[in-house]
Amino acid sequence: MELLCLDLEGVLIPEIWINFAERTGIEELRATTRDIPDYDELMRMRLGLLDQHGYGLSDIQAVIDTLEPLEGAPAFVDWAREHFQLIILSDTFYEFALPLMRKLGQPTLFCHRLEVDGSGRITDYVLRQQDPKRASVKALHSLNYRVIAAGDSYNDTTMLSEAEQGILFHAPDNVIAEFPQFPAVHSYEDLKKEIVKASNRELPL
Ligand SMILES: [Mg+2]
Repeated sequence: MELLCLDLEGVLIPEIWINFAERTGIEELRATTRDIPDYDELMRMRLGLLDQHGYGLSDIQAVIDTLEPLEGAPAFVDWAREHFQLIILSDTFYEFALPLMRKLGQPTLFCHRLEVDGSGRITDYVLRQQDPKRASVKALHSLNYRVIAAGDSYNDTTMLSEAEQGILFHAPDNVIAEFPQFPAVHSYEDLKKEIVKASNRELPL
């Protein structure tokens, strides 16, 4: 039995924090783990900025609701689900991703969650577990699934290594150079070809 695991941001949907920064004009919210490698420090800064600018969860969801999946992503997800059980492994939060997941037909999503108080203020975030993408692939292996996985960034590379076949999609040049063991593709058509190649079944493109 085979499963397909896909990263979400940068693969099927735009980067949520970067788009939220653009829509609100809060420049500091553009920072990523490339700028602040300590994820906890980065998230504390983000939550502090939301407080400072008076943004609660519903304001953020309203902005996220105006975002669309990447061009071609819904059709790609339809193809993927026709041929695989699809699981999205993401480092986003359920509360952010849900409006966009609706636009992708609600595939299964494993990610983190936010804590929100009665007034809608985001008070904290809760990581589901450490190294969640790798842990998920390991867990799926323990259920006797073979896993094909695709992602675009550093936080995907442990998942890609753990899978029977990892594929880089839309990855920046530095990630491609650092992880030459993974095929790197930039279009959904090429991603389908790599997935079909990695599958142990005969699949149509
Ligand atoms: Mg990503």
